[in-house]
Amino acid sequence: MQLIDIGVNLMSPAFENDREVVLAASREAGVFPLIITGSSIESSAAALDFACAHPRECWATAGVHPHNAKTWNAQAQAHLREMAAGRALAAIGECGLDYNRNFSSPLAQRGCFEDQLALAAELGKPVFLHERDAFDDFSAILKKYRPRLPGAVVHCFTGTLKELDAYLEMDCHIGITGWICDERRGTHLIPLLKRIPPDRLLLETDAPYLIPRNLPHRPHRNEPRYLPHIAAFIAQALDKKAEQLAAGTYANSLRFFGLG
Ligand SMILES: [Zn+2]
Repeated sequence: MQLIDIGVNLMSPAFENDREVVLAASREAGVFPLIITGSSIESSAAALDFACAHPRECWATAGVHPHNAKTWNAQAQAHLREMAAGRALAAIGECGLDYNRNFSSPLAQRGCFEDQLALAAELGKPVFLHERDAFDDFSAILKKYRPRLPGAVVHCFTGTLKELDAYLEMDCHIGITGWICDERRGTHLIPLLKRIPPDRLLLETDAPYLIPRNLPHRPHRNEPRYLPHIAAFIAQALDKKAEQLAAGTYANSLRFFGLG
């Protein structure tokens, strides 16, 4: 059984001392390749460098997370455009809107998001999207660009039925994380899983964040090697065999990101 983790924040300081070990443990667990999430110009550059040093094992996204939208300017835009030509690039992102804590102003977030969607459309790249507490603005902006984007995945989907339907209507892929294993806040996602067409479901850990709450032990951080645990939980919710879910989502990931 092989899985692709489409969202790993491997350049996070949480992995500073043992990235190679984490990568080896992922492979051992059948989780490879990894798609490393870039969330700022710096982390995107680092993610692409790491991915280039680990061909076929890692790919990377490059983009500016809404939290970092205040750093967005012409120079950042030029830098992102350069990075988008890199051979290890899987998608533009993560980009989007996050009004949960507004680390950057909503106005700055919207400008940063639109510019990245325009760039992805121009370059013909798929996008890796983040939305939290900002559905109305997010979906209105995405709708404008969606016809010109080759693909769009709403990563770490935790929203409502209405939001899910709107994303599916826009032909988005849906990224599901271990949030769904959280009995306090994730159970509403279980019935929604069945609405996601099997060819549009993608799996991710969002490591080191979102440690699955139902692991038999409590690790100090999340890692890609826990993705089979999340996949087994999702397979059970869908009345599928884990192998069947793995094969389907693996193929979806290759196709979505155009991984050769
Ligand atoms: Zn995110």
